[in-house]
Amino acid sequence: MAGIDGKPNLVVVIGAGPAGIYAARKLAEAGHVVVLLNRDIKPGGLAEYGIFFDKEKMKEGLRKQFKKILADPKVFYFGHIDVGEGKDVTLNALREIGFGAIVVSAGAQGTKKLGIPGEDCIGVYHAKDVVYHYNKLPPFSQQRYEIGRKVAIIGMGNVMVDVANWLLNYEKVSEVTVVARRGPKEKAYDDKEFEVIEQYLDHEDMRREIERIRPKLEAVDQNVDELLASFGDKAEPSEQRLRFRYLCSPRQVIADHQGRVAALEVDANDLVLEGGRTVAKGTGQVSRIDLDCVIYAIGDQVDSAIGLPFSRGAFVTNPEKLPGEPSPSFYQPYDPTTRKVLEGIYLVGWSRNASVGLVGVAKQDAERGIKVVNAYLAEKEGLSATEIGRKIEALRRRLEEKGVSFVTREDVELLEAVEKEEARKRGTWEHKFATDEEMLAIIAAKRGMRGEALAAGVANGPVKKH
Ligand SMILES: Cc1cc2nc3c(=O)[nH]c(=O)nc-3n(C[C@H](O)[C@H](O)[C@H](O)COP(=O)(O)OP(=O)(O)OC[C@H]3O[C@@H](n4cnc5c(N)ncnc54)[C@H](O)[C@@H]3O)c2cc1C
Repeated sequence: MAGIDGKPNLVVVIGAGPAGIYAARKLAEAGHVVVLLNRDIKPGGLAEYGIFFDKEKMKEGLRKQFKKILADPKVFYFGHIDVGEGKDVTLNALREIGFGAIVVSAGAQGTKKLGIPGEDCIGVYHAKDVVYHYNKLPPFSQQRYEIGRKVAIIGMGNVMVDVANWLLNYEKVSEVTVVARRGPKEKAYDDKEFEVIEQYLDHEDMRREIERIRPKLEAVDQNVDELLASFGDKAEPSEQRLRFRYLCSPRQVIADHQGRVAALEVDANDLVLEGGRTVAKGTGQVSRIDLDCVIYAIGDQVDSAIGLPFSRGAFVTNPEKLPGEPSPSFYQPYDPTTRKVLEGIYLVGWSRNASVGLVGVAKQDAERGIKVVNAYLAEKEGLSATEIGRKIEALRRRLEEKGVSFVTREDVELLEAVEKEEARKRGTWEHKFATDEEMLAIIAAKRGMRGEALAAGVANGPVKKH
């Protein structure tokens, strides 16, 4: 498909999570050359550092697919590069190099707050940071999380389940309280996912909680008896327990004299039906839950530091609905001050729609977005192989001049081989080095060894230098 003159173009994709990697595949399939810039040393994004660490089959399956895509000679991987204002390289610098298109697939790296008093005290965390911590992504892997014994998780989606899984099954906390604005029927987690923490659910407490809110649920025509019937009589005494506090909106975090979380004050909600949706409405009735830690699992927002027009947690996209399937507007960043789209830049995956959907959704979004990008590039003149090589070299020079220690696909493969060997020695299915320093040191050592092996003529096959 390439450009108007039949020549390919050069596209930079920012972020090598599922969206960026599947985007790279679609661009390469259309004949284009792709430079994939990734903040983390290893590719995979949340598939590597978000999906729960015991989902071996799923993680290995995705890694295999990603490895195959990154092995395409038209895809050039540069890891350990942060793109954005004041970062390793800016969007403007990438524009100056002259990429045919820029695809932003950096996920949703900004954290959402509730904006309540006390939320900056010690022991209030964001689920994403905690998830990065237990999945060993630097620097979160090295940060200390003051969890304590009693933890509240705000929100009731699948991320809540993952965090509760870690807290109860691995950190062995004594109590997890899920605080939800609405009721049990409005849960956003999958029952199948919930099974990993179901054993901790305090059924007696759950019945009491549902009885407490019975009139409010019945006010919106919810069948409470049916709901109660879904809980057995199970009330086995347990050292650890999971409970829910429904119809509660956090109002303030109360700190102790050391500035650590002591309690969460919540506002009771009513439920009302609005346009077919069940909506929470505050009542002003306040109660208190004593705690050691509060974790927000309320979704994330995009990172405004990338340098695109940003409003209310998202990048602004073209408000004019252009014709086409998919409509290009969905993927085009838009500057409300100049009222123009940012030509040649596109958003896909969680950078376009923060915290929405599983890997399959991010993949589909990227593939639809790249349809739009490929159509745009088809109308442009392409580049010769020499021009493409020069531009990649220009990027490499810029990074080297700034002293950025980036890694390539071959480097990641060297690192992964060492991690595999380490896992084998430890008898675990995987092993991850948890600091950039360790990973970079291993890569540097292995690069040296590979260099020596090449010099001795024992390497089988050419090593691509990029
Ligand atoms: C806790 C949790 C558990 C999940 N579990 C599952 C599951 O079990 N199954 C499932 O199918 N889905 C799961 N998901 C959803 C899945 O992870 C996402 O759908 C998917 O990863 C989104 O892909 P993405 O590429 O848009 O973003 P991400 O996966 O976030 O990837 C973004 C990439 O961009 C890079 N990046 C970020 N900022 C920059 C920058 N400034 N410059 C350069 N690179 C940058 C990052 O290093 C990262 O590699 C889970 C999500 C979470 C949060």
